[in-house]
Amino acid sequence: MFDERSGDWRYTLGGKTCFDAKSAFAINIKQNLHGREINDKLLSYLNTCKREILMEIPLRLDDGSLLPVHAYRVQHNNARGPFKGGIRYHDKVNLQEVREMANLMTWKTALVDIPYGGAKGGVAIDPKKLSFHEIRRLTKALVSHLGNNIGPHIDIPAPDVNTNPQVMAWIFDEFSKTHSEGSPLAVVTGKPTEVGGSQGRLEATGRGVAICYREACKYKGLDPKELRVAVQGFGNVGYHTAKIIHEELGSKIIGVSNAVSAVHNENGIDLKALKDYSDTHNESLDGFPGAESIPRDDLLLLDCEVLVPAALSKAVNTKVANAAKSLKILLEAANAPTTPEANAILHEKGVCIIPSVLANAGGVIVSYFEWVQNLQQFYWTYDKVVAELEERMVRAFKHVIELAQEKDIGLRQASYCLALDRVARALILRGF
Ligand code: NAD
Repeated sequence: MFDERSGDWRYTLGGKTCFDAKSAFAINIKQNLHGREINDKLLSYLNTCKREILMEIPLRLDDGSLLPVHAYRVQHNNARGPFKGGIRYHDKVNLQEVREMANLMTWKTALVDIPYGGAKGGVAIDPKKLSFHEIRRLTKALVSHLGNNIGPHIDIPAPDVNTNPQVMAWIFDEFSKTHSEGSPLAVVTGKPTEVGGSQGRLEATGRGVAICYREACKYKGLDPKELRVAVQGFGNVGYHTAKIIHEELGSKIIGVSNAVSAVHNENGIDLKALKDYSDTHNESLDGFPGAESIPRDDLLLLDCEVLVPAALSKAVNTKVANAAKSLKILLEAANAPTTPEANAILHEKGVCIIPSVLANAGGVIVSYFEWVQNLQQFYWTYDKVVAELEERMVRAFKHVIELAQEKDIGLRQASYCLALDRVARALILRGF
């Protein structure tokens, strides 16, 4: 199977290599573009990141001491436009993970056809152990270390795990001190609306996941009102996905987990009440009166028709895949949440897997809208943002389904075929 994390293009099923990057091109590319063949050199280039920035940031803590913090920005490819990708603050961040996520961003922006390449940033720290002012100092020091490696037409960061609109506002502020010309607002997306952010950006990723879910139900002939959904992760993506899936599509959310705990109620969970509870109980869901507490990782083993991993990568492993009985749709809201082995088991079981490059692309699509608005200094209404997002997500989903049906391949393979095609074409046209 396709290994998103290693960036290995080989695709194996049952131990047999049946698909690799070359066959991806063979499936979808007219092999010969301007007399140039897609060759091993191009594939090897696509497996390599264009630039990797490794930093050690001295963070001044509130007590006056200095803490060295490791940080990374990896710029994978910019054949189709400036590098684009989130910044994650997490103690487990490492260079290899950031590389893999940067790589994923290249395919995601290509798949939904927005004029960007792929990048990712990571800071190896648990921000929950830092004060508000320590996070602000860390963010500003990160921007000053990045220097001219980011910019509105160079590389445009965005929020990811443990970073939010406030962090994006600090990034803009620090950058604008040394880059007042042009449109410094466009250096980062996911900002608060008071500081150049777009309407609808906060819930954009969840809304995009929900659009994919609605389209997948149509494709599979399923009624969302009859489906039970379990959601792993109750942050930006998990919360908004669950809310929209329930309120607008009528599905029942029977289980929710976060980093601390998990809850289950076969009759459905009141998400607003659960959010209020976790906000006032130090993020714990334990003791929530509207549901039964369960061990955190049992959330992934709940009997349900729809599973939404919306936390970290590799959550859906062979244990989860083997336990799946009624599962019909795996909606990859998180980046790369399924291990290759689990992917093969679920594929055999006939589960419709919506790959993360497609499922969570709503965030980067609305980031693109924010960037366009910042450059034009002309701001859109919420309804316009939602309508444009809807149109782009539905178009990308349709293209993936059409290719999957035409070539009798899974949605993951079809997504990568489309994305590889676009990036390779851009590279070749530019003279690779
Ligand atoms: P977030 O920090 O807002 O939320 C993460 C959630 O996951 C939190 O509720 C946290 O408690 C929970 N969590 C962490 N470890 C867990 C575990 N072991 N079990 C259960 N829950 C756990 O982050 P987010 O922005 O919602 O991002 C979630 C995922 O979506 C990540 O993979 C991220 O890369 C991806 N993503 C985010 C965006 C975006 O716009 N924010 C866009 C595309 C993809």
